[in-house]
Amino acid sequence: MAFTPEKPPIYGETLESLSTHLKARGEPAFRARQILTWLYKKRATTPAQMTDLSKPLRDWLEQTFDFAPASLVLCKKAGDVTDKLLLEMRDGSLVECVIIRAPQEGVGEEHSRKTLCISTQVGCAYGCKFCASGLAGWKRDLSAGEIVSEMMHVCRVEDAASPERAAEGLASFDNLVVMGMGEPLANYDNVLKALTILNAPWGLGFGARRITLSTSGVAPNILRLAQEPLGLRLAISLHGATDEVRSRIMPVNRKYPLAELLSAAKAFAQTHGRMLTLEYILIEDVNDTFDQARALADIARDLHAHVNLIPYNTVEGLEWKRPGSNRRERFAAILRDAGVSFTLRREKGHDIDAACGQLRLKTERERAQNNPDISSL
Ligand code: SAH
Ligand code: SF4
Repeated sequence: MAFTPEKPPIYGETLESLSTHLKARGEPAFRARQILTWLYKKRATTPAQMTDLSKPLRDWLEQTFDFAPASLVLCKKAGDVTDKLLLEMRDGSLVECVIIRAPQEGVGEEHSRKTLCISTQVGCAYGCKFCASGLAGWKRDLSAGEIVSEMMHVCRVEDAASPERAAEGLASFDNLVVMGMGEPLANYDNVLKALTILNAPWGLGFGARRITLSTSGVAPNILRLAQEPLGLRLAISLHGATDEVRSRIMPVNRKYPLAELLSAAKAFAQTHGRMLTLEYILIEDVNDTFDQARALADIARDLHAHVNLIPYNTVEGLEWKRPGSNRRERFAAILRDAGVSFTLRREKGHDIDAACGQLRLKTERERAQNNPDISSL
């Protein structure tokens, strides 16, 4: 189901496309850059704030583009480490993004590293059995402008905490992970365009090496991504080290089985000369056996990949469980003995890991029950 807004979001314009619009109006060549500087560097939210533009041009901008494709519904602190933002799109769709703070040793909170996790679709069609985003199915893709708008909302919320960065017109987060709701490689063009705008010097000038895109394994699009000039980092949601186990929990594996996925991943790693990450959620009695650990170690060694072991985060309505800490440690020990580079997330990450997808689901459910009060979330 496509959604065609009344006006295209201004955040979906590139320097090139905006220049074309303005040229057709007889505006000088520098005008597009001037407008984008207002938008990204000076954080203007309306044409009225762009005080060095003529009134007719400001009126035209207002009439032609949507400057608020997403509005902030809720900003929720979830413990010390995460903030969740719930945004509402023009068609009423709810989308969430999460800010994750990792305090740096010996310095105050204002110096913590901030990672922004963004969503790329409303819902997800991939239906992984453990995931909140997949539970309610896929509603629609987000446009590039809506995705950039998510990032700008976060910048505005966080600017107060890092005024020096805001003054320089830089993003107020340090890393970006495309790990929220949706499968980014199933909305390829919009996601790539949004990340290109984020990276562009006329946008937020955000380094591609600080961006990690996570995919459930859309193999052909991993190969396509490998050819892009934008040098993103790639994470693969593996979650099963054999076809049998992976297909049980990730339907995508039936379309692109492990051999095809891993060969695409290898091609990506070789083109970019950079280490991949394999995400592996540990789910009790599903993928946490020692055979799986050994098979995972073989895959990781072959790909020279880093493994991120994530204890499963309980999702309301799903029966899966996270294994106990002893079992997690023993699973990890197999990777360690095999010389694989890995991280085992501790309980502290509980809030973080499945942060995306859950807030939206909860709100949708409450709305469905005609309960307008979402303040209790
Ligand atoms: N669709 C993409 C990106 C979004 S999902 C992908 O699947 O990679 C981001 C990450 O959250 C994925 O690694 C996903 O497997 C993980 N995830 C989903 N549900 C989770 C849960 N309940 N607990 C822990 N991680 C979860
Ligand atoms: Fe979709 Fe990723 Fe969730 Fe799977 S894990 S349902 S691909 S968002």
